[in-house]
Amino acid sequence: MMKILVQKFGGTSVSDEKRRKLVVKKIIKAKKEGYYPVVVVSAMGRKGQPYATDTLRSLVGDEFLGQNILASDLLMSCGELISTVVMSKELYKSKINAVPLMGGQAGIVTDKEFNNASVIRVETNKILDLLKEDKVPIVAGFQGQSEDGFITTLGRGGSDVTAALLGAALNAKSVEIYTDVDGIMTADPRIVSDASLIEEISYNEVFQFADQGAKVIHPRAVEIAMKSNIPLVIKNTLTDCDGTTISSVGNSNSKNVITGITHMSDRMQVNVQLKDNSENKSYRRLFNILADNFISIDLINVFPTEKIFTIDDKDFDKFEALMKEKDLKYSYVKGCSKIAIIGSRMRGIPGVMAKILNALSRGDIEVLQTADSHTTIWCLVPGEDTKKAIKVLHDEFELGV
Ligand code: ADP
Ligand code: MG
Repeated sequence: MMKILVQKFGGTSVSDEKRRKLVVKKIIKAKKEGYYPVVVVSAMGRKGQPYATDTLRSLVGDEFLGQNILASDLLMSCGELISTVVMSKELYKSKINAVPLMGGQAGIVTDKEFNNASVIRVETNKILDLLKEDKVPIVAGFQGQSEDGFITTLGRGGSDVTAALLGAALNAKSVEIYTDVDGIMTADPRIVSDASLIEEISYNEVFQFADQGAKVIHPRAVEIAMKSNIPLVIKNTLTDCDGTTISSVGNSNSKNVITGITHMSDRMQVNVQLKDNSENKSYRRLFNILADNFISIDLINVFPTEKIFTIDDKDFDKFEALMKEKDLKYSYVKGCSKIAIIGSRMRGIPGVMAKILNALSRGDIEVLQTADSHTTIWCLVPGEDTKKAIKVLHDEFELGV
């Protein structure tokens, strides 16, 4: 049996020659340890850099691409393609026989939901053949191909999904996601300077992290790995740190009930006032109208004559038009942030919410709304208090280094 290891390198990891040399080191290390690496790459660099996907899009502009989804996906697949070839050359210099592959060539078959395609199946024969010849496949992340040959893309952060899918289909020993931080931290290190590394975390907790705004890994990738029970490891291309290992158990020994904090910005709290709530029909109608118009809502509180919930700021125009059309009264607070305090050990432990609210109140931060589940407590706060709220809570639960 071949010991297969999927190694995914994000945009910053492949952005310049110095970093690409470090990527080569990680691949060589895997080979030395007896693994057969399958490499997945993102487009080179972030927004503003020449081969980043956003830059490619700006060549023709959003308006054209919005109306020409086929062209849009074709263009958006280019950044990753360039990466596969550039990375292959870097490996070639180290005498490694790398083979660059488009998503479709690597067997990623998708539906035709352009811009946000779903993978129907993964055909592993080509990759397996390459591995048997001792070659290293370098797969373009974030893309696939429809049954009838159109290039599709998998949505933002889609390279993580490619890596997890290949890991599952190839029954890999593990999937390594390489990025520019040491692993999953107790908070975004760009916001909290003393955020500490989480060494072990459960699929459930990391799913919450990813789903609630931490872009360090795509939530779909977590789901896929969890289903196949394949270990996921988040690592830093730039260091030799062991990173964060994600498994079904997580860290059951930790004394801290909170694992970490993340947030989603640009949320809007709305309050819809219904004149007549007879037989609860009108509010059901309200939620149906929103669903039919693809406005997703959360933090929902239902009272007899008012319904309070949040929507994404970008859905506001659509929301406002609907409310006017249906003659419904509403008020709103724009630009809020939904802070998510995550920890599967908070289950059944009293006083966590009180502790959170006390800390925020001491920090003079207004809490507009709260909600909770077994693993997460959410607090909606004014956008300008986002960083302060995260820092205050991070300190309160002593998550720092
Ligand atoms: P890549 O290009 O490698 O996919 P991303 O930008 O998608 O990288 O994800 C890495 C970034 O995620 C980090 O630079 C960090 O700022 C951000 N991030 C947000 N929340 C967290 C967190 N809790 N732990 C680690 N990184 C986080
Ligand atoms: Mg990413």
